[in-house]
Amino acid sequence: ERDLKTKLLEINKIAATYYYHQLKSENGQVGLSYLRKRGLTDETINRFGLGYSGQNSKALYRYLKDKGYDDDLLKESGLFTYERGINDKFWNRVMFPIMDINNKVIGFGGRVMGDAKPKYLNSPETKLFDKSRNLYGLNIARTARKNNLIICEGYMDVISMHQAGFNQAVASLGTALTPGQARLMKRYTDQVLITYDSDEAGTKAAMRAIPILKEAGLSTKVINMQPYKDPDEFIKALGAEAFQERIDNASNSFMYEIGVIEKKYDRSDPESSTEFEREVARKLTGFSQKLERDNYLNAVCRKFNIQMDGMRELVASYGNQSG
Ligand code: ATP
Ligand code: MN
Ligand code: MN
Ligand code: MN
Repeated sequence: ERDLKTKLLEINKIAATYYYHQLKSENGQVGLSYLRKRGLTDETINRFGLGYSGQNSKALYRYLKDKGYDDDLLKESGLFTYERGINDKFWNRVMFPIMDINNKVIGFGGRVMGDAKPKYLNSPETKLFDKSRNLYGLNIARTARKNNLIICEGYMDVISMHQAGFNQAVASLGTALTPGQARLMKRYTDQVLITYDSDEAGTKAAMRAIPILKEAGLSTKVINMQPYKDPDEFIKALGAEAFQERIDNASNSFMYEIGVIEKKYDRSDPESSTEFEREVARKLTGFSQKLERDNYLNAVCRKFNIQMDGMRELVASYGNQSG
């Protein structure tokens, strides 16, 4: 088992180096110009070890076979597909090696350079790659001297933020944030800023992530990226200073949650408005310390224009019911 892992790490390292050299070769010009078009500098490309998987769908397979690796081992690497004979899983994509906190390559993501689907292909889970216990970019972010970590959705978001100086950014890579990832972050920081995409999927993901981060003992805020869709697009449009302002003005996660909840209701309708206030009251009972609960109650009533006395009564009545 230990031996197998060592071999798989070796294979991944060879693959990452191979993709990297492809990017710098004649063949890789399409990949390189795609990354440059997206605003990445050579320094950034090198820091993240980005690469290109060539146009030949057996190139990596042959390369590794030539080095003497046998098929059983290669199968465990997740780098190949077996539908119509053995083929490279990744070809004609720009490649993002995924590293663990010790800078060991444990998997890959690959992006098409146009609008083809699927946009991203990721390594499957292997003996090395446990998606629920790793975060893209944490190998660099852990050494950033910042008092928070920023969690986002994707490869390009992490890379753009790092290039703009926000080298505390990590990504959960499309999967919902897990308790394991939250605990991993807690090893390096006490505060997490969420910058998931500002679309419906990203909002849902943020709403699911907040309680998980809280559970791990992390203070949590949410960065507003409107009117842009993700941090990569935001930074490209408005730059690093504007992004820093958004960080400074990030919402307290509770206030963010209430804002999202409010959108389900029609505040101009008394019945719907009352339902909203009941939901707020139920959430406020989650704060067990009176002082904290009062502070949130005051802030929420002010921000969402709720009658304070009524809310206090409602919270007290719910509090009594639940003991
Ligand atoms: P880009 O800016 O390159 O278009 P993105 O990161 O904004 O990409 P999203 O669609 O927001 O792309 O997806 C966020 C992340 O989810 C991606 O970075 C990738 O890790 C993962 N992802 C996206 N699409 C897929 C897919 N089809 N299969 C697997 N993972 C995906
Ligand atoms: Mn998205
Ligand atoms: Mn996105
Ligand atoms: Mn994007």
